[in-house]
Amino acid sequence: MRRFFIVFVLIGALAAPFPASYAQRKSKTTAVAAAASPARKAAEDITAAQLRDYLSFVASDEMEGRDTPSRGLNITAKFIATLLARWGVKPAGDDGTYFQKMALHHARVEAAGTRADINGQSYSYGEDFLAIPHVGAVSGSLVYAGHGWLVKSKNIDAYRGIDVKNKIVVVSNSGLPKGVTLNDLRSGGKRGEDWAEPEAYAQKMGAAGMIEMPDFQTLANWERVRRNQQAGGTLVVTKLEDSRGSSLPSLTLSPKMAAALFQGEKHSASEIFQSMSGSDPVAAFDFGPNKKINFTVAGEPETIWTQNVVGVIEGSDPLLKNEYVAVGAHYDHVGMGPAGSNSRGPARDGNTKDIIYNGADDDGSGTVAVLAIAEAIARSARRPKRSVIFVWHCGEEKNLWGSDYFTRYPTVPINNIVAQFNIDMIGRSKREGDTSAPNRSLTGTNEIYVIGSKLMSTELGEVSERVNKSYLNLSFNYLYDDPNDPNRFFFRSDHFNYAQKGIPIIFYFDGVHEDYHRPGDEVQKIDFEKIQRVTRTILVTMWEVADLKTRPRVDKQLPPELTGG
Ligand SMILES: [Zn+2]
Repeated sequence: MRRFFIVFVLIGALAAPFPASYAQRKSKTTAVAAAASPARKAAEDITAAQLRDYLSFVASDEMEGRDTPSRGLNITAKFIATLLARWGVKPAGDDGTYFQKMALHHARVEAAGTRADINGQSYSYGEDFLAIPHVGAVSGSLVYAGHGWLVKSKNIDAYRGIDVKNKIVVVSNSGLPKGVTLNDLRSGGKRGEDWAEPEAYAQKMGAAGMIEMPDFQTLANWERVRRNQQAGGTLVVTKLEDSRGSSLPSLTLSPKMAAALFQGEKHSASEIFQSMSGSDPVAAFDFGPNKKINFTVAGEPETIWTQNVVGVIEGSDPLLKNEYVAVGAHYDHVGMGPAGSNSRGPARDGNTKDIIYNGADDDGSGTVAVLAIAEAIARSARRPKRSVIFVWHCGEEKNLWGSDYFTRYPTVPINNIVAQFNIDMIGRSKREGDTSAPNRSLTGTNEIYVIGSKLMSTELGEVSERVNKSYLNLSFNYLYDDPNDPNRFFFRSDHFNYAQKGIPIIFYFDGVHEDYHRPGDEVQKIDFEKIQRVTRTILVTMWEVADLKTRPRVDKQLPPELTGG
């Protein structure tokens, strides 16, 4: 049936009186091509109206800005799962569900029970010291260990010549040791073994507790940090089974309490402070045998669960269906509350009453685009040859938690994922004549930033270009496709964790705009025609990749600038 129809249409097109308008010709060829390609046919199912319906739910005030973890996020997860079940998309989370559960370890510091004394002289929480909410009571002798880091590749070991077992380690942790870069850590072997940050190293070496000298950042934000610790803010959220973090009870001292701690010791607190701001580091040393500190951090450790949402549409090819094309977005945003915390910016119009960060573009637009792609494929009579896995990541705004978790604990074999398409902000367009500074780098209605498509696989980049040119011919802007892009967009969304696992990625992004991380990022400002165009293009491109005879070859190493974050 399908074939006859094609010939008929072709004749019709040729017979039409000339000249026909470009749009007419374009839509005619698209219609012809759609008939030919199941992907384009399926893409026709994706409409601005459909996208608006879904986004009006996902980015509504009722979702309360979808913070991780939060009620609004959980409701959105249920919304996505309900639709997937309706369309017959296979659950690919835990235990036959659509949810990949993540345990977030959460604790509040209870000021009442949190106390410390040095040789019986007591100090108060919030004024003289702060406490990372790792609950516990500690007492014993002290040892000073400089910056506290281990970086074997740089021959750095803060514990050389000292024994910290069952002692309380005092460190002057002002970030990476001198001469060490993040790249050194990334290329420096296994975290916790070949290199370790002070907390983890102290725990590994059997210390009883840890004391940090305050750096300028902490002193400048003392009050805010204290409030966060007592409110159980997001500062301390770690993944329960994540061995990378530490659970060592530890204090950060005020200058006054630090002075008391180092009184009568080999070096004074002010010498230590000077060494933190660049003068020669002070070598590690044991405190005098009579100097004892006791401290208790009281708090309520709590586990809060959140989730990635994961579904699969199985491929039609008996062999290739064992490989996957991944399509993803993040369905979380920055929640609700005053500007200034949780990476929330102030309202452009100065309205402080609206504290809900709806995240319609960031990343409601990607969330509904992935939904529309899943629906279109699920409803299509034909399926791509490879399987398609859809992942709605949580915690992207919290440092890419969801994609970090999924790529470390994948629910399908990670080596079978042949490419990942990441959609993060595709719903805003710069209007004609808009010369405002905040929208300077925002793309036009028929334009989108494409990042990473050529970075790891020449073939993937070519497919992306070829499909676009022969389909809706969007304007692909490669401005940020530069390893040295000062905005570092390559690091700033979920594709990054897939790329770290050697999976070639394509990241679609509309550019920062006036409502980025502000309450004004709302549904009524979204360009739904743009989301429709970009989403259709992504569906046809990922389908092309899913039907390739062989998976796209990774023929290029990620440039060192782009490894590791
Ligand atoms: Zn985002």
